[in-house]
Amino acid sequence: MKIFKPFMLLIVFFVLFNCEKQPLKHKKTSIPTQSAEIIDEMHARSSSSNFGIVIHGGAGTILKKNMTDSLEIAYAQKLEEAIRVGHEILKNGGSAMQAVTKTINVMEDSPLFNAGKGAVFTHEKRNELDASVMDGKTLNAGAVSGVTHIKNPIDLALTVMTQSEHVMLSGEGAEEFAKLKGFKLVDPSYFYTEKRMQSLLKVQEREKLKNNKGSNATLFANDPYSKDTKFGTVGCAALDKDGNLAAGTSTGGMTNKRWNRIGDAPIIGAGTYANNATCAVSSTGWGEYFIRAMVAHDISAMMEYKGVSLEEAAREVIQVKVPALGGDGGIVAIDKDGNVTMEFNTAGMYRAHMDATGELIVGIYEKK
Ligand code: ASP
Repeated sequence: MKIFKPFMLLIVFFVLFNCEKQPLKHKKTSIPTQSAEIIDEMHARSSSSNFGIVIHGGAGTILKKNMTDSLEIAYAQKLEEAIRVGHEILKNGGSAMQAVTKTINVMEDSPLFNAGKGAVFTHEKRNELDASVMDGKTLNAGAVSGVTHIKNPIDLALTVMTQSEHVMLSGEGAEEFAKLKGFKLVDPSYFYTEKRMQSLLKVQEREKLKNNKGSNATLFANDPYSKDTKFGTVGCAALDKDGNLAAGTSTGGMTNKRWNRIGDAPIIGAGTYANNATCAVSSTGWGEYFIRAMVAHDISAMMEYKGVSLEEAAREVIQVKVPALGGDGGIVAIDKDGNVTMEFNTAGMYRAHMDATGELIVGIYEKK
């Protein structure tokens, strides 16, 4: 018996010790302890890392006096819903590119924005969509323009980047490629919204009036109404926990566009740019000017060559260079350290930003 006593004590101690630990294991999770510990460790590591996301839903003459309360709420809610999707991806260690495309999908699927479902109509009453993405780590990029059957053009732009040797595909060719890659093409009637049709009819009426008066003014010049019928392009820029930047932009372009007009949104360097050395940018505005000013790349280049901050670079390009040409619009951007800017020279820009702490900023009108 004397030999057994220490042995028994050891058993009692062992049982007691284990009983005490049991509830902790249950509280934590029902998955095996080892995995739970790995998750805890990942969480501890990641919560110290920096990440962030910023989005826009178009810039233009967005004035409070022209907005109903319910529409304002609808925009704010959709912006929040979209940015939270990307933020969650980043928080869980997902890539900036994943966050950008999934966030843009939410806005493409909403009739509120001029992208995907809510795309504006062309002169011929069609919807021709443009989109692009850029990966700041590899400087790889993908874009599509003038697609008419693609529900989420940003996904096709990403597929061009990841599964083709090209950067930009357009029109029917882009859709052939989409079919090959397993995209389901949608009937163009999917993009019909009464609001966008009414905008087109109004612009065409004004155009007729102008032509009857014998004015040789171009459609968009000096006509604030025509100029502002392009609201709602969507875009996103993100920084992930691995320090990678990505940007993407998706649009229906400008109301009443014709001749297969392509704006800045699918042009890498104009509508979208990302470079891990500097920043990620998505543009919205009067595309012809954003192409000529190479807006997104210029902001990155100013940071790289002049050593200025993201905020300074964006301000110079949007408040000085673009207006000097006669253009208007805005950008959202995030730099490699997570600094964000939402710069615009129009009355408003639908926008939102979330940082690593989860703080959310949503804006529509002019900055105070
Ligand atoms: N930039 C787009 C285009 O010109 C329109 C917009 O952003 O509102 O096609």
